[in-house]
Amino acid sequence: MADRKTAIVTGGSRGIGREVALRLADLGYDIAIVYIGDENEAKETVADCEKKGVKAKSYICNVASFEDTKATVAEIRKDFENIFALVNNAGITRDGLIAFMKEEDWDSVLSVNLKGAFNMIRHTAGLFIRNKGGRIVNISSVSGLMGNAGQANYSASKAGVVGLTKATARELAPKGITCNAVAPGFIRTDMTKNITEDNSELLRTIPLGKMGEVSDVAAAVVFLLSSPYITGEVLRVDGGIAM
Ligand code: NAP
Repeated sequence: MADRKTAIVTGGSRGIGREVALRLADLGYDIAIVYIGDENEAKETVADCEKKGVKAKSYICNVASFEDTKATVAEIRKDFENIFALVNNAGITRDGLIAFMKEEDWDSVLSVNLKGAFNMIRHTAGLFIRNKGGRIVNISSVSGLMGNAGQANYSASKAGVVGLTKATARELAPKGITCNAVAPGFIRTDMTKNITEDNSELLRTIPLGKMGEVSDVAAAVVFLLSSPYITGEVLRVDGGIAM
């Protein structure tokens, strides 16, 4: 059906990506989620989306791999119609002080967080161009805007995502395709499970005085996906940390 739209959400099995998938399913999007290995969580997200009356399917794929992402996008194109939205959300941290950071920790974070977003855009851009429309939202981080001690690899990857977003936005704008980024602060997910709000030092850095929820980030993603005249924007969802 021509009026159905599909969204691809990487890292859609858990955390922010799962919430994005569910909110898009609420809006009637069919959902293709990409994840790396947590099959139970992926199945749960798919089942929760299906309960909302949309089609949903999960694909195990390492976004860091050019070939894997190429094959996965081809599979998604066979399974779904009218792919309109791509949310590049898959991400990892391997924190450490730069004087001690292992080369593999630098490489893996850059490969998943930055090259992963490139790979997915690379393999869907042709489709969006042919369809004369599409929306891309990349998940960056305030670490990429401000830098964060102990996160040289992560900050560099997320700053890279901002550059990738703006270059993509400029390049694809003439084709009616938008590309924006969301930069979350501290959001309560598995990624931040070691941070607790008893940590008053952390709370002091957040003007709104609390961590954010996945729903706060998902609302920003949904907003950008529904906005035909916003492109190249980086929307902070951070309780004011990086203002
Ligand atoms: P999370 O709960 O740790 O979930 C990470 C997701 O990414 C999972 O679905 C995971 O799949 C998937 N993933 C990881 N590596 C992958 C790979 N190589 N290929 C495909 N999928 C992969 O993370 P989150 O907190 O929701 O974070 C989501 C995004 O927001 C990330 O880009 C993160 O950097 C960004 N962010 C988060 C925060 C925060 O405070 N939480 C703040 C700023 C930015 P499996 O389930 O299969 O492992």
